Amino acid sequence: MKIGVPKEIKTHEYRVGLTPGAVREYVAAGHSVSVEANAGAGIGATDDSYRKSGATIVSSAREVFASSEMIVKVKEPQPSEWVQLRENQILFTYLHLAPDPEQAKGLIKSGCTAIAYETVTDADGGLPLLAPMSEVAGRLAIEAAGAALKRYAGGRGLLIGGVPGVQPARIVVIGGGVVGTHAARMAVGLGAEVTILDRSIPRLRELDELFEGRVRTRFSTMEAVEEEVFAADVVVGAVLVPGASAPKLVSRGMLSSMRKGSVIVDVAIDQGGCFETSRATTHADPTFEVEGVIHYCVANMPGAVPLTSSQALNNATLPFGLALANKGFAAVLENPHLRAGLNVYRGRLTYKAVADSLGLPF
Ligand code: NAD
Repeated sequence: MKIGVPKEIKTHEYRVGLTPGAVREYVAAGHSVSVEANAGAGIGATDDSYRKSGATIVSSAREVFASSEMIVKVKEPQPSEWVQLRENQILFTYLHLAPDPEQAKGLIKSGCTAIAYETVTDADGGLPLLAPMSEVAGRLAIEAAGAALKRYAGGRGLLIGGVPGVQPARIVVIGGGVVGTHAARMAVGLGAEVTILDRSIPRLRELDELFEGRVRTRFSTMEAVEEEVFAADVVVGAVLVPGASAPKLVSRGMLSSMRKGSVIVDVAIDQGGCFETSRATTHADPTFEVEGVIHYCVANMPGAVPLTSSQALNNATLPFGLALANKGFAAVLENPHLRAGLNVYRGRLTYKAVADSLGLPF
């Protein structure tokens, strides 16, 4: 199959659909790959490194779209990209169509076959193409907290791990899923005192076994959240209620009971956030202060580390992308997990939740 990789054009998006390493896998499987010049610049991958992996470098996105049977990207297509998609062409990327009727109409009109990373499933009922970005965000959350705790950044002037004879930071993670587990892993690694709260007792059992006593686990009730937040130096918000906005678990009143210069990192901000006082921020200006508590609420945290994020994303997308390249649309019919990723096919929405939320026919 002819595969195409355009350069990402969404503002501040530095990731790339296929890394040179992934291109090599497609080429080894007998496919041809066209990559737009400079597509890998954001992760330091030169056109030469793509050539060495077997890709052909083309000078414009127009050539990529015109010559490819499947387009592999990272972010949802922008208006100038929708109009270049055509019938029977496969688009494999994050789409997030539910809140984006204009994009949905653009994809419907194009007649393309659009498979959304975020709805592809795995045998455990997980979302394998979303998980790597949650892993990145969870780990980054503790780096962000460490930066915000510095005195010159407005924080308490506390070193996360302390030193021998001086107590470490108390880090509370609300939500022990993918983000929460990876945040806890980093926090434990730095020597913090870590507590994870979750609503799922089976999940708390798994975490208890995973961390072998190095984290405290606690069932998440209003009382537990209040007590833990009160005593914390850092609170990481990592809850997810599938298909819903994040529940507001920490009120403004609870924040006022925290020590001045404490930090909250609201990773769940992309679902509205789980702190009453959160509002989305950007990498350019990531923090603000409310009630003396530093808030870090960046909605696209993995964008800060596009090299790691692109590699993690490519590792996860590769088996699905190769199946599509090898078998074409038959791969979607054969594999229920890829089928779950199908959002648009031949001018119709094929993902019920997206159609329902847009009020469009399914
Ligand atoms: P996940 O489904 O793996 O984990 C969510 C956890 O929250 C589950 O274990 C669930 O039991 C728990 N939970 C639900 N309600 C709770 C409550 N009231 N109290 C405590 N725990 C509760 O989800 P995830 O992949 O870890 O993602 C977490 C959030 O991070 C999502 O909103 C996701 O969109 C977001 N995220 C943000 C970024 C970013 O850049 N800001 C990046 C990746 C993910």
